[in-house]
This record gives sequence, C-alpha cells and structure tokens, in this order.
Amino acid sequence: MLATDATPFASEIRRRRTFAIISHPDAGKTTLTEKLLLYGGAIRLAGSVKARRAARHATSDWMEIEKQRGISVTSSVMQFEYDGCMVNILDTPGHQDFSEDTYRTLEAADSAVMLIDAAKGVEPQTIKLFHVCKMRGIPIFTFVNKLDREGKDPFALMQEIEDVLGMRTCPMNWPVGMGASFKGVFDRQKGHVELFDNRDHGQTKARTQTSGVDDPALADIIGPDLHQKLQEDIELLDVAGDPWDFDRFRRGDLSPLFWGSALTNFGVQPFLEYFLKLAPSPAPRLAGDRLVDPEEPRFSAFVFKIQANMNPAHRDRIAFLRIVSGRFERGMEVQHVRLGKKVRLSQPQQFMAQERQIVEEAYAGDIIGLFDPGVFRIGDTLCTGEAIQFEGIPSFSPEHFARVRFKDAMKSKHFRKGLDELTEEGAIQVFYATQPGNPDPILGAVGELQFDVFQYRMKNEYGVDVILDRLPYEVARWVEGEGYQPRRFWGTDNLAVTDRDGRNVLLFRNESSMRYVIQQNENLTFRATAPVK
Ligand code: GDP
Repeated sequence: MLATDATPFASEIRRRRTFAIISHPDAGKTTLTEKLLLYGGAIRLAGSVKARRAARHATSDWMEIEKQRGISVTSSVMQFEYDGCMVNILDTPGHQDFSEDTYRTLEAADSAVMLIDAAKGVEPQTIKLFHVCKMRGIPIFTFVNKLDREGKDPFALMQEIEDVLGMRTCPMNWPVGMGASFKGVFDRQKGHVELFDNRDHGQTKARTQTSGVDDPALADIIGPDLHQKLQEDIELLDVAGDPWDFDRFRRGDLSPLFWGSALTNFGVQPFLEYFLKLAPSPAPRLAGDRLVDPEEPRFSAFVFKIQANMNPAHRDRIAFLRIVSGRFERGMEVQHVRLGKKVRLSQPQQFMAQERQIVEEAYAGDIIGLFDPGVFRIGDTLCTGEAIQFEGIPSFSPEHFARVRFKDAMKSKHFRKGLDELTEEGAIQVFYATQPGNPDPILGAVGELQFDVFQYRMKNEYGVDVILDRLPYEVARWVEGEGYQPRRFWGTDNLAVTDRDGRNVLLFRNESSMRYVIQQNENLTFRATAPVK
C-alpha cells in the first residue's frame, strides 16, 4: 500500500475496518452487532441496541409502517475502537422485505460477515447478499450462530456452504459440543480450546479459560465423550476444509469459518480478534481508469445511500458518504463533481445506533451523513483537488413490479416530483412500457415492502394518493445489443420497457421464461444489474 510523507494520517486509515453483516432475517444479526459493540466497549450491557430500537419505535412516527410491522427499514453505521482498530459496522435492514439499501450498503463495505443460523443453514436472503459480495470481490467471513441450540452437524454445514454458495471455507475454530453441551471452541492456529462460562445470559462478556487439547483436565471438564469427539473432529478437519490461504481469502474465494452463540457471547471474542487481524483496511476504488488509493492526501468520497425523513420533526434528507481517500474535516469545501460546483460540508453527522453526533474529522473507510437539501444522488462523487468520478452504484434487478396511478388529476405535478425524488433516492426504480397504450409508470422494487413505503411517502410527503396495480413479473434484465427490437416482445408474456435513463429492460414472469428468451437471443446481452453510468 502507498505510504508517503504526504499522508501523515496513513496509520489512521490502516487501522480502519469497515464491514457489513449479511444474513437472513432472524439469524442473529442484531444480537451479534450488539455483542460486538459490547466487546468494543461502545455499550456496557447487552440489550441496549434493541432497547434503543424499541424506544425509537415508540417515539418516532416518521414511518408508521415501521411501527405497524415492528421492523426496521433504516440502516445506520456504528463505530467503536478495539485493540487499536477503528471498527465501522454498516447496519442493514433485517426484514425479509429488504430493499436496494441492503445491496447498496455493501458498496460501502470492505468486507462482509456472513451470519448463518446453525439449525437453518444457508437461507435465501443469505444467498442473494452473498452474490453481491462475490460480485464485488470482497472478502467474506462466515460465523455460524446459535450453537447453544441443537443445529445441523458442523461438517454438514461446511458442505452446505460449499454446495449452495460454491465457496470453500477454512475453519479457524471448531465447536466443542452443541446445544446444552456447547462448551467452547477449539482454536486451530493456537491449538487450544477456549472454554466459555457465562452466568448472566450474555449481558456481559463471557469468561474464558484455555486448555490444551491433550490436557487431561480438559477431558474432566467437557467429559470423555465430547473429548474423544473433539479429537476425531480435529483429525477430520485437516482433510475436510481448505488450508488457510490469505490471497484466496482476499479475493473472496475462501472464507474463514467461526462458530459461536451471539446470545450467550460464546465465540464472539475469538471471532472479533481474528476478524480484526484478517479484515482488510480501506480498499482503493476505481475512478475512471485509475485506482484512488485510500492514503492519497486528497479527500474523496461517494454517496451510497440517501435516507429521507430520518427525523420527523425536520423532514430532513441525509446523504450517506463513504470516504475513499484522505481526511475529512468539518466545514471543508469540496467539489460536487456531477454538479460541477463547490459545497461546504458543514454539518456532518455520524450515527451511533440512531443517535447522531457531529463529526469533526473522519478518514478513508469512515461513513458520514450529510444534510441533503436535494443536491445529492446515489453514486455522486465529492472530492478535493482534480475532479474524479467514482464508478456508479449499479441498480439491481427488482423482483416485484406494479403500475402506479394517482387518484386526483390535479396532483399531476406533485406526483411527478415525488416519483422523481423517490427514484433519485433509490427507494424504488421506475420503468415505462415501450408499447403504446398505457403510459402509467411501472415501479420495480427488490423488496415488496418498498411499495408500501412508496405509497406512504407519496401521501405524507407529496400529498398524493397513489394506486398500485401489481404486475405478474419477477425478474428484470437490462438488454444490450444492436439487433434488439422492443416491439418483438409486444403482446408476449414478457414486457419490454425502458428505465428512467432510457435503457432497454425486459421484465419476465419468472426465471424459466427469462432463460428461454436468453437462449433464443444469443446475440443480445442480458444484465442482472443496470450498467452504471
Ligand atoms: P436478526 O433478524 O438477524 O437481526 O436477528 P436477531 O438478532 O433479532 O435474533 C433473532 C432471534 O434469535 C432473537 O430472538 C434472538 O434472541 C435469537 N438469537 C440470536 N442469536 C442467538 C443465539 O446465539 N442463540 C440463540 N439460541 N438465539 C439467538
């Protein structure tokens, strides 16, 4: 990595670890996040994150939907220091009706922790998020959770990860027992067993005691059966998993595998310590044809998420920035590259489990939130020095579609404004049929909940009652190729549309009709994400 005298803050950047936890709902993401904060000293007693979430639900009416469904549709960033590292956890919505936000948040992460429920194995949402990480080539850690309950056999889980995701794992540790007899983990590198003890249901850190595998005292503590099983497992492991290979890990081809229970804190600390050692510091990012190194002295950042109405009292809009290079200072003047003008970053915010703090300084790898008077879009670059433009953030194929109309003809202007702003924010995608006849816009969303959010926000923020008519499509593909003629698809089962930038898109009823069309049109290219501008 580049280290020059011009970057006196290189050590600040190198100690940063910015990551997201990816999982299927209920695998324990909130619990693990909270336990990481507990070990990081950011909270004293576990339970606070949930309590804050609950308190927020009680005091905030910024989105009734949240309350009605009792779920969180926002994401935030949490920062803490541990062992000399500055850790940024990007929180993503946990609900099954997750949105594009979840995907986009991964654009701001340098690594991901894939959390798997030991009883359920690899679940659908894990698979989707895994593929986004894979596409970006970011390193993926695997944490198998809920070992305090009976789950699948650990070797079977390893096999499942490989079969379903096509990724090999390297167990860094191995569980000793499971369910009521889950006693600890065997650290393969150190060659010892870490035995856990916790008497307050995971509210405080677990106490740990280490023991060599051949230590007769270990057999006494865990019992002879478990001891023998552990010895057999250790031998099997040498052939079942892959050997540790740092380069394969960095490319996202090999995942270090950990076991534990976020609920009881067992295995959280061993995981955190390996994570900080192995997780990459802020990565360079492509701007045009050159890589911008995080240690370049100039400040640069991109907008990966825009969130409106985080505070109901102010109806504000916050743009979340990931800093790519250099150092940020409150009040600094930067170029807004797309608009070709200067903006002053005067009220930067950092979010700690929904509580805001003003940021005085931040470094490459950090996330900050800016008040957005409507000048930012997802993918915008901000920088000092020579103007650069980071690669845009792709739009992902929606899985739900609906035609949208509004009731009151007088509200046409408001409708347009709302539609423009909400699509700009990335809350929803908009398409238009190419076949004449029905000019009403078609909305596409990755998660169905986004339709409710759209309807709610159109009414509350723009005063427009909208009607959504669901459409029977499940997949979209951006189509490229000289010979493409949308009219060939008119009147078929599939719908030829254009997106808001005029690019051609085909909507399919299901995967098999998509595969059929792809087979029949070898001269065309079909993309699952919109080509970035
Ligand atoms: P999220 O939807 O992924 O954020 O999951 P939560 O952290 O909210 O956890 C979902 C449920 O699983 C909650 O009832 C948790 O108490 C429970 N849970 C989380 N981690 C563990 C664990 O290690 N063991 C057990 N038994 N339950 C857990």
